[in-house]
Amino acid sequence: MITTPFEYSRADSLDDALAKLSAGKGEAKLIAGGHSLVPLMKLRLSEPRMLIDIARIPGLSGIHTRDDRIAIGAATVHHEVASSGLLREACPMLAETAADIGDPQVRNKGTVGGSLAHADPAADYPAVMLALDADIHVKGPGGWRVVKARDFFQAMFTVDLAPDEIIASVQFKPVKAGAYAKLHQRASRFAIVGVAAAVDATDGVIQSARVGLTGAGPHATRLTGVEEALAGKRFAPETIESAAEQAGAAVSEINSDIHASDAYRRAMIPVFTKRALSRALARAQ
Ligand SMILES: Cc1cc2nc3c(=O)[nH]c(=O)nc-3n(C[C@H](O)[C@H](O)[C@H](O)COP(=O)(O)OP(=O)(O)OC[C@H]3O[C@@H](n4cnc5c(N)ncnc54)[C@H](O)[C@@H]3O)c2cc1C
Repeated sequence: MITTPFEYSRADSLDDALAKLSAGKGEAKLIAGGHSLVPLMKLRLSEPRMLIDIARIPGLSGIHTRDDRIAIGAATVHHEVASSGLLREACPMLAETAADIGDPQVRNKGTVGGSLAHADPAADYPAVMLALDADIHVKGPGGWRVVKARDFFQAMFTVDLAPDEIIASVQFKPVKAGAYAKLHQRASRFAIVGVAAAVDATDGVIQSARVGLTGAGPHATRLTGVEEALAGKRFAPETIESAAEQAGAAVSEINSDIHASDAYRRAMIPVFTKRALSRALARAQ
């Protein structure tokens, strides 16, 4: 299929992109890597009259430290996340997740902001952003606002972002003791089930844990039951086993599609929760 006709314009700043979005009166859409939007346009599930390219806005891409936090610009491509020395050292879970997205073409064009805004139920970053307790920095006609990752992912392909707003960056405290484990769709490498775990442990005791789940349900979500089961416990294989055991049961809505039935996904949630937690805790030692 080919797309419906559209005009194309390249924004040269965030404010230029915002002005162009507002001038589009609901018929304009941002394009970053195009790896989610263009397939939708070809299927005519999305028919924007105007595309505003934000991929080359100066300052909208890059990975930086800001005090004790890391900021990643929305237009940063997955390859840059995967190959960042800063992330590999300070927050390896995120670099590893990016390295396992799609294929080289996807990783060289797809962006962090595009992935978060699109919120595919099988996308990887949402689980990791939940585990990192990340802040999503958004700019709109009314100025800036910051949305917690846990409030951002609301339903299938639905996030807390107005049509005239732009994600500028994602910011978080780096977590060394974190890991992401996913059951891949063989062809695309999207997550059938993906679990990200970040733990805070001292002297063999888990002080707290954050666990994000993607792929299984309509949108990424925190596995709070698993988090509560871990808090205050000594880390041992039995602790992980019993915390992960009930992970699948706690998820109310599970997807069923050509890739996996709901029963299979539910059965895989504890398996990948255990893998993510074991790797995260190995990093905490
Ligand atoms: C073959 C294939 C395999 C893939 N495999 C994986 C995988 O294994 N794991 C995974 O997680 N993903 C995977 N993806 C998805 C890929 O990561 C996409 O790049 C990503 O989901 C969207 O990023 P993008 O920059 O291409 O966004 P685009 O397609 O340009 O945009 C997507 C949507 O987000 C909006 N948008 C873009 N940037 C912003 C912004 N800064 N602020 C507000 N709205 C914005 C656009 O208007 C559009 O609605 C795959 C894609 C393909 C085609």
